[in-house]
Amino acid sequence: MPTKSKNPYLPFGDQQNAPWYGKDILSVKQFSRPDLNYIFAVAHEMRIMVERVGTFDLLKGKILANLFYEPSTRTSSSFMSAMQRLGGAVIPISEVKYSSVAKGESLPDTVRTLGCYADVIVIRHPEVGSAALAAKHARKPVINAGDGVGEHPTQALLDTFTIHEELGRLDNLNVTMLGDLRYGRTVHSLARLLTRFKGIKMNYVSPEALRMPREVIEEVAAKGYPQSEHATLEKILPETDVLYVTRVQRERFEDPAEYEKVKSAYVITPEVMKPAKAEMIVMHPLPRVTEISMDFDDDPRAAYFRQMEYGLYVRMALLAMVLGKA
Ligand code: ASP
Repeated sequence: MPTKSKNPYLPFGDQQNAPWYGKDILSVKQFSRPDLNYIFAVAHEMRIMVERVGTFDLLKGKILANLFYEPSTRTSSSFMSAMQRLGGAVIPISEVKYSSVAKGESLPDTVRTLGCYADVIVIRHPEVGSAALAAKHARKPVINAGDGVGEHPTQALLDTFTIHEELGRLDNLNVTMLGDLRYGRTVHSLARLLTRFKGIKMNYVSPEALRMPREVIEEVAAKGYPQSEHATLEKILPETDVLYVTRVQRERFEDPAEYEKVKSAYVITPEVMKPAKAEMIVMHPLPRVTEISMDFDDDPRAAYFRQMEYGLYVRMALLAMVLGKA
């Protein structure tokens, strides 16, 4: 991944030689295991700093353009919070209907524009490959915050950071992904990223129509990782260390009748969780609809609200890295 053109007027203190300086973050395929160790170490530092002082000036004078063509609560607000906690500023464009996009402006022109005003661009867009297209035309680093059913790399980074912080390890884990594995981009990124660790077994539980895409299964298989597919959770739950639940992605269905058929395929309740280990975690990228009952929220294994907090620290780390401050 090439570094974006060097800025001749770079303010004092930017480390042009920092390994992630000026890089786009488009896919989990970019990250090696040592990269992950580094990101987690920086994210851990960010956590300590937020707990100690809340906000500090590492990115003072820097500007983030937050460009969201699809709905978002956590990803957009955690990137905004991350930038502001690091002392930087944000141009939020979440209502693209109020921007020139509504006048028919192309994605390349929009990111060319934002590259003049901001130092880094975060983008979410409904089309697979849109973040890569944006990166091609932007002269500032672009971070993919979800490209349709493609990838959501920063989510997978925060998901693996969550597993690390909660279970204390990322090797030798039995990870079960449940729900909409076809349209859920977070599981596409997570399955790929888990191949950086040792002794991982992946289980996919979904309705027939929402199975994990072949290309993801083949990529994971090519790296020699065991995987299994199931229609129900029962058999696989007792040996699961991480249960990663996903929402059925209503907005990706062409036929609403098809969505109705599968929307309530699985519901995690305290009763369903009885056969699970005491030492395991339940994750969810959120938003949840009906797939995890609120009755389960107080169970110590319910890690999904802690997971979204870890997202703040990981996104702080990523912003600092691509801006040459970590
Ligand atoms: N927030 C996640 C995403 O943007 C998960 C979801 O929407 O279900 O992919």
